Amino acid sequence: MAYEQEKQVAIAAALAAAKLCEQVRHERVPEAMEKSDKSPVTVADFGSQAVICRAIAAAFPDDPVVGEEDAADLREPEKADQLAQVTSYVQAVVGDATPEAVLSWIDRGNGQVGQRYWTLDPIDGTKGFLRQDQYAVALALVEGGEVKLGVLACPALPVVPEQPEGEQGVLFVAVRGQGATMMPISGGEPHPIHVTKADDVENMRFVESVESGHGDHGRQDAVAKAVGITASSLRMDSQAKYGAVAAGRAALYLRLPSPKSPDYREKIWDHGAGTIVVEEAGGRVTDMHGKPLNFSIGAKLSENQGVVVSNGAIHDTVLAALRKTTTV
Ligand code: AMP
Ligand code: MG
Repeated sequence: MAYEQEKQVAIAAALAAAKLCEQVRHERVPEAMEKSDKSPVTVADFGSQAVICRAIAAAFPDDPVVGEEDAADLREPEKADQLAQVTSYVQAVVGDATPEAVLSWIDRGNGQVGQRYWTLDPIDGTKGFLRQDQYAVALALVEGGEVKLGVLACPALPVVPEQPEGEQGVLFVAVRGQGATMMPISGGEPHPIHVTKADDVENMRFVESVESGHGDHGRQDAVAKAVGITASSLRMDSQAKYGAVAAGRAALYLRLPSPKSPDYREKIWDHGAGTIVVEEAGGRVTDMHGKPLNFSIGAKLSENQGVVVSNGAIHDTVLAALRKTTTV
């Protein structure tokens, strides 16, 4: 099967990173450091990126990784405690790690977009992680501008949606042309997943970000109503939202530019893995104008604005409704 080695390496790396994140989440109240753009980052974000970049470097030494984090801040002398923490969490997962090795693995994720590259969000939804809500470890392989493989580990996502207090931790995997699967992180057989059918009224729910600054809740609500979705939205952090659409737990995920940052351009690592998981589950992903997401330009989806993710059947109706609604 095409991409079999890439798939196995990506799954093992994402599961190891998810284990590290869960250890941080359960052992300590994760503390946030602040990045230059004021967004939060934790020892788990750094540890996850180190573990995954180490695995990709070992298996595919020529492949660049375009990851969200870099180690510049961690190299500052006043961050020595945090670096020691990251090193000990990485060590617990991979067996051997020194602070210098950890820094170089993290910086292995500063690659450039090219013909073939990986894109990584070591913790997507860091704000959700800090709130003990949803987050994801998201890893995708892109070739010739097309996402070929996506692995999405969602450690806090209920295995059975109707049992939110039951077992948590779901792994989504998709390979182009081979379908999308889901399985509990604890193990078991992956099983194929599919988006909802157009007439599946029960699942006519839509998902959106918890953070109002990452979307336009007012306009998203108006668009959902315009296409006949009456249930209130399911708010969820991270690309777990893509997982919800792919697994038929929701029919639509709307991410329209926030009025607070109308010129924001989405990052490739926030959408690569999720996109292929939904497409291979039978759904469709475009920007708010109906354009495919262009993963060949750089770290930002600079030619796209907003993101619309659907079960496919309702996609054109959603785009038409979007053209008619203006920002609320
Ligand atoms: P979510 O958990 O879906 O709300 O998305 C989390 C991601 O939102 C983070 O990984 C950030 O890269 C991204 N983000 C940060 N600022 C914005 C913004 N103004 N609009 C959309 N996404 C953003
Ligand atoms: Mg992210």
